[in-house]
Amino acid sequence: MYFYATNFIFFTYNIYKLNDKSVNVQRMSLYSDDPNYFAHIYNDSERDKKRIKILDSTLREGEQHPGVSFSNKQRIQIAWMLDSFGVDQIEISPIVSLDHREATKIIIKQGLRADIVAHVRAIKSDVDVAIDCNATWVATYLGISDIHLKSKLRISREEAKIRALEVADYIKSHGLKSRFTMEDASRTEPEFLLDMCREMNNRGIERISIPDTVGIMRPRGMYNIVKLVCNNIDNSKTSLDVHCHNDVGLALSNALSGCEGGADQIHTTIDGIGERTGIPALAETAVALNLIYKSNNDFRLHLLKDLSKTISDYTSIPIHESKPLVGDSSYKHKAGTHLAAILRNPSAYEIIEPKQVGNRRKIVFGELSGKNGSAYLLSILGLDSSKENAESLAKGLKELRMGDILELYLDEKLERKILNEGYVKTNKD
Ligand SMILES: [Zn+2]
Repeated sequence: MYFYATNFIFFTYNIYKLNDKSVNVQRMSLYSDDPNYFAHIYNDSERDKKRIKILDSTLREGEQHPGVSFSNKQRIQIAWMLDSFGVDQIEISPIVSLDHREATKIIIKQGLRADIVAHVRAIKSDVDVAIDCNATWVATYLGISDIHLKSKLRISREEAKIRALEVADYIKSHGLKSRFTMEDASRTEPEFLLDMCREMNNRGIERISIPDTVGIMRPRGMYNIVKLVCNNIDNSKTSLDVHCHNDVGLALSNALSGCEGGADQIHTTIDGIGERTGIPALAETAVALNLIYKSNNDFRLHLLKDLSKTISDYTSIPIHESKPLVGDSSYKHKAGTHLAAILRNPSAYEIIEPKQVGNRRKIVFGELSGKNGSAYLLSILGLDSSKENAESLAKGLKELRMGDILELYLDEKLERKILNEGYVKTNKD
């Protein structure tokens, strides 16, 4: 509550300052190099900046998506691609099958920059499998909400605690780095959650994951639960992860809010695949961190579209055309007035250039093109794009009643051609 109150004061203070210096502000809005300048002020982007890491779980959570199974060759390739993109940790489960165990061993042998986290149940024999794979990082998980204890594990809280702590001690006795996932944390009684977190913290478990396993949280709730844990453990020994499910589409908002509450690592998968409706997508998370949260990461964002395409090929799940950043419509501009603005300056409708995320800009012609769009179309075709011709083509396109009839990639060459030969020459407004 306190955080939100201070944040609001800071926010209104900034607005006040803006009003106070309205002359300056106006000049800034016209001449600032950054068209997102005021958005960053509303976002309070310069405050509490910190580096937020990404653990990608495409090889674990992603493989839990209905119908998805990778071959070992694919698993190894995905790990290489994720590492080259710049994620901090890559999670894989060696206990699913012998193939998974083999893949885990091979990926660990590659000596990638990212930590390879072997994800296993909180059972000693599972930890042995991780050790057999030469893992240096082991993540274990146990459902700790009453519903999980009663209906899934059929054990008491006390039994769950004993089981989890025995395994934590076992992992530490082997000198491994470790994460413990408090499965279904968002539906767990706070006292029990804190008790478990303190115990793990005392044992020097490097990371605790606070998942919203069923996607029930709202952003403020995720902030509250992470803040509660953060305030009750020694943060120099243990850092926090957030793993948020997307059952009502709040996964990324919740994860980011959890980071404002004290977590410093978000779990993602490529395209957000996972159990049911999955978890935050890598592309959206990476761009949100880089552009909106000003987190100092070294991501190679231009690989995002390729990562998405690779996963789509391997899973046969098509990339939804409205998928942010990597979808086919993410950089598609249709209305005539939008086209006019895009040609003058793409920042009018784009917050990050398509080539920065490996995507391409497209323009659509059809009944919504209007006079401006029609003038471009004529100019591309090398025809006279005078006002009269443009208006008559716009009318014709409307009367066709066929919606969109043509889509074109608007590459730089085509952009220059339109600007030099067409619209600008005939419509010098
Ligand atoms: Zn999950």
